[in-house]
Amino acid sequence: MLESYPLYLGSVPQNPNGDLKVTDKYSGEVACRVPLADSAMIDKAIALAEAAAPAMRELAAYERQSILNQCVRRFEERAEEFAQVLCVEAGKPIRDSRGEVTRLIDTFRVAAEEAVRLNGEVMTLDISARARGYSGMWKRVPIGPCSFITPFNFPFNLAAHKIAPAIAAGCPFVLKPASKTPVSALLMGEVLSETDLPKGAFSILPATREGSDLFTVDERLKLLSFTGSPAVGWPLKAKAGRKKVVLELGGNAGCVVDADADLDDAVARVIIGAFYQSGQSCISVQRLYVHESVYAAFKEKLVAATKKLKCGDPRDEATFIGPMIAESEAERLATWIQSALSKGGKLLCGGGRKGAMLEPTLLEGVPKGEALCAQEAFGPVAVLEPFADFDTVLGEINDSAFGLQAGIFTRDIYKAHRAWDRLEVGGVVIGDVPSWRVDNMPYGGVKDSGLGREGIRFSMEDMTEIRLMVLRTVEK
Ligand code: NAD
Repeated sequence: MLESYPLYLGSVPQNPNGDLKVTDKYSGEVACRVPLADSAMIDKAIALAEAAAPAMRELAAYERQSILNQCVRRFEERAEEFAQVLCVEAGKPIRDSRGEVTRLIDTFRVAAEEAVRLNGEVMTLDISARARGYSGMWKRVPIGPCSFITPFNFPFNLAAHKIAPAIAAGCPFVLKPASKTPVSALLMGEVLSETDLPKGAFSILPATREGSDLFTVDERLKLLSFTGSPAVGWPLKAKAGRKKVVLELGGNAGCVVDADADLDDAVARVIIGAFYQSGQSCISVQRLYVHESVYAAFKEKLVAATKKLKCGDPRDEATFIGPMIAESEAERLATWIQSALSKGGKLLCGGGRKGAMLEPTLLEGVPKGEALCAQEAFGPVAVLEPFADFDTVLGEINDSAFGLQAGIFTRDIYKAHRAWDRLEVGGVVIGDVPSWRVDNMPYGGVKDSGLGREGIRFSMEDMTEIRLMVLRTVEK
């Protein structure tokens, strides 16, 4: 990593201070410094975005596509460097870091394709005698300057899910990356600054939580797209005034392994779904329901596979579990595990903690009201529970404040459809874990898990307004 990285104000790199220390999440040492923007700078960034809105709106589709394609090429050229930075600033195992950079590239590639598909419709309007001789057409126009706030856990790809559709739709933007992992977004800023985006069209500004109010309250911003925790997201919506709000929040995803599942395959997938990047994914497998007829066999295989996972230095190619983002987060989760054990839960494996490193942990028999079941664990922990009846277990999954995605291992097409019909979630994954995602699918949640969908073309709908033209086609 470099010693410092600039922020981007109105497309221009600037280094006004080095106030934010970014640590190596494994060693805990300072890895680099980045500037923090104050309110005056955020105000200026919003003014520049507003001034750039007409130029962004006037970019032709092929020009927006070409900018996005240039980003794809540059990301490909710098992929390994990006992955190494991510590995340090997020403590993300290097193989997962490379995987995230691949997804960053996918997200921009899909946006480049969607940039030339922003279509409208010709409409029949002569629906009654008084409308005889009228027809209509509608198209999508950019909503204007957008405000983006992103979390620590996928600092490239979740910023990409806002930046790439904004460019595809023709919107300028200001973005505040997570203070624990700001460098990834700043590297994207460096690539954006090489493109022909209109002057002032984007700002990427690390800022303190207390100093970030303008991202939410400023009326010049027409959309707030926030990804992060429900505790932060919902109050921001209440402060957002008249702007549109999209919230991509947390979950405590449920996963069902039915009696007819291939147990070895389900175990292999659950290992990834529950423990990949230390469970710090909003769709990590947290509540695992296994049919009683295969419960003992599944449990034995899952515990054996979990015990084999290699924990340690994220730079080591063999590491599967790296540190959690902060020691305080590992401490919180260790406390939740202790609480579950004191209420009758049984530890199947793991549970140990050293600093920010928490072992991959499985429990069973945890009461439903315990934080480990009811809240978002956001760490390498899953809770097993046997079930007898498929329809009842769908109710169990729904008995949650959250609703992001659910995973169902079944081969029964009728059960698959029942799950799709009844589960109160944004997405149902049949034959795999809830943690499955590719970047063009509609992704988002219901209930506490959020509002709206990302997935390029769905984000582009939020980042545009429908504008109608009515045509009187016959003369008097
Ligand atoms: P967080 O809510 O603590 O922070 C998210 C972002 O909001 C950060 O940039 C933070 O600095 C900023 N922020 C915090 N307070 C703010 C304020 N008052 N004004 C403006 N900005 C403010 O979340 P986190 O710990 O970075 O990320 C973990 C959470 O994100 C988990 O709950 C996880 O489930 C969720 N998440 C959701 C998705 C999704 O797509 N649904 C994806 C990844 C993560």
